Order: sequence, then structure tokens, then C-alpha cells
Amino acid sequence: MQSSDAIQLLDIQDDNRIFADMVNDDANPCLSCGACCQYFRVSMYMGEMTGAGGTVPDELVSQVNPYIVCMKGTEAGYGRCVALRGEVGKPGIHCAIYAQRPSPCREFRVWADDGSPNPDCQRLRERAGLPPLAAMPA
Ligand code: SF4
Ligand code: SF4
Repeated sequence: MQSSDAIQLLDIQDDNRIFADMVNDDANPCLSCGACCQYFRVSMYMGEMTGAGGTVPDELVSQVNPYIVCMKGTEAGYGRCVALRGEVGKPGIHCAIYAQRPSPCREFRVWADDGSPNPDCQRLRERAGLPPLAAMPA
């Protein structure tokens, strides 16, 4: 299923996870933020790697345990993901593998179903010196 929201497009997976894709235009707050991409350890099941039939380039991940990998740079948390391009908090920042990014990045939503901003976004944006997000535009 896909919503008709102009900025954040939602897609319900077979396992009921909800993935979000952000539209690539000026209304997308992520393209001048990037704060979440230098904060969390971005880990995933290794089946998401290209070598296992997934989308995430093998060379961009580190092994966490026999089943789990994470994006390079994020191993210990508070580290910048290897796929992040640009300066955090500045226009033009983006993910170099957006169409291939792992599931945790797809599940991290800017706005909830009721249009309220993700509290984690607000916290991370504040840490990065950015203004808080408004409710999702109608
Ligand atoms: S913290 Fe929120 S607004 Fe900033 S890049 Fe991540 S998802 Fe986008
Ligand atoms: S893969 Fe892309 S979206 Fe995910 S943390 Fe890295 S830069 Fe951010």
C-alpha cells in the first residue's frame, strides 16, 4: 500500500513493517539534516547484503555477529554512516545508496500516521543545531 502524502510515501511490507520513502525535493527535511545517519548503529540481517540477494552493497557493511551486519562507520553508535554525503545540517546532504539503503533506514519515519514529527528526529535535529520539524504538511 502507498499513501498519497506528497513528501513521505509509505509502503507496507509483506511482514507488516512500514517502509517510508522521502520525495526528492525542497520540502524533504532530510535533505538538509542527516542527523540520524550519524547517531544510531544501523544494523540489519545479513540477508540484506547484495552478496546474499539483498540491496545493501557488501563493501559498505561491517560484521556484527554471524547473522547481523551494520553500516560501516556506525559500529559503535554516534558515528557517521559511510554512505552519508555532505555536511550534516546543511542543504544537499543525502544518502549515496538511498534506493539500496537497509531496512532500519526505511523504517525510520519523519512523520507518524497522525502527522506528528518523530520525537527522535526532533531530538537529533536539536543536537545538530537544527530547528524542530513542523507537523506533516497537509
Ligand atoms: S533525523 Fe529525521 S529529519 Fe533528520 S535526516 Fe533523519 S529522518 Fe530526516
Ligand atoms: S544507509 Fe543511507 S539512510 Fe541509512 S544511515 Fe547510511 S546514509 Fe543514512
